[in-house]
Amino acid sequence: MCKKCICSIVPPHVLSGLAKDGSESSKIALADLASIKQKREATLASLTKKEVKKSEGNRYVYDSQNSWELRKKLIRKEGETEVEDNDVNTVYDTSGFMRDYFKSTFKYNLLDGNGMDLIFSVHYRKDYINAFWDGDEMAFGDGDGKDFVAFSNSIDVIAHELMHGVTQFIANLQYYSQSGALNEHFSDVFGTIIKQRVLNQTPEEADWLIGNDIIGPSFPGEALRSMKAPGTANIHDSQPDHMDNYYNGNDDNQGVHINSGIPNKAFYLASIKLGIEITEQIWFQTLKKLWATANFNDFFEIILEVTTEMINNN
Ligand SMILES: [Zn+2]
Repeated sequence: MCKKCICSIVPPHVLSGLAKDGSESSKIALADLASIKQKREATLASLTKKEVKKSEGNRYVYDSQNSWELRKKLIRKEGETEVEDNDVNTVYDTSGFMRDYFKSTFKYNLLDGNGMDLIFSVHYRKDYINAFWDGDEMAFGDGDGKDFVAFSNSIDVIAHELMHGVTQFIANLQYYSQSGALNEHFSDVFGTIIKQRVLNQTPEEADWLIGNDIIGPSFPGEALRSMKAPGTANIHDSQPDHMDNYYNGNDDNQGVHINSGIPNKAFYLASIKLGIEITEQIWFQTLKKLWATANFNDFFEIILEVTTEMINNN
């Protein structure tokens, strides 16, 4: 059974649903998940051997030129001005915004706490309908133009994938069952926070959708997920919004993209009530106290602990 993070933005059960409806690109993306998992497992194994290097989170955006090659042609690196390719600019700007946000809000240097280089490849493969974090870098497909368009053109998708890196280095939540659903949850939480901050929106104004900028004309819905109304984003969206409807099956690593709807809804409700400035602190301090096999109950208890501490410290 898979215990490591595949961390691709389109969940396997959505890809399966699209594949059943005849999408060839979905079949290819589905088949590809295994090789991403393999690369990530190898990267995680080598991480413990790497010596920690302090850096500044410098950005490197490459163009895969629709090939399988990562880091093929360097298009824009730290400090360089805008280029013609808008996908490159969106990835560069969003990751820079997120890096500065983590530094000023939590005094945390993306992604590993020591400012490791941020490496991206856009235009990965041809008509590829996914984006992923493979353990040490990120890749974005252009989409097939039918169900999906470019994955690099979405703030919440870029931030979601970067956050998988942060979670890996802080709590390393196992990508399976409830710890995996929490891993997905933290990526959606900081995906939506970064989007709201870039767009200068309040929780009331925000759409709380994940992946609404990447869906194409044939996609059966408005987004991949809704944090405000889990289970309503598309016809394959089976996310519950309450423990009463908890998913107990084996699909999707025992529901990592499915049961994440439960804490997602909780985060939405908390943000409406308390505002993002308070919830972002509670959630990040909670992440720092979590561990690889933490479940929903552990998560809830740590949230209470962190919140009590914050109240006591004014
Ligand atoms: Zn994810």
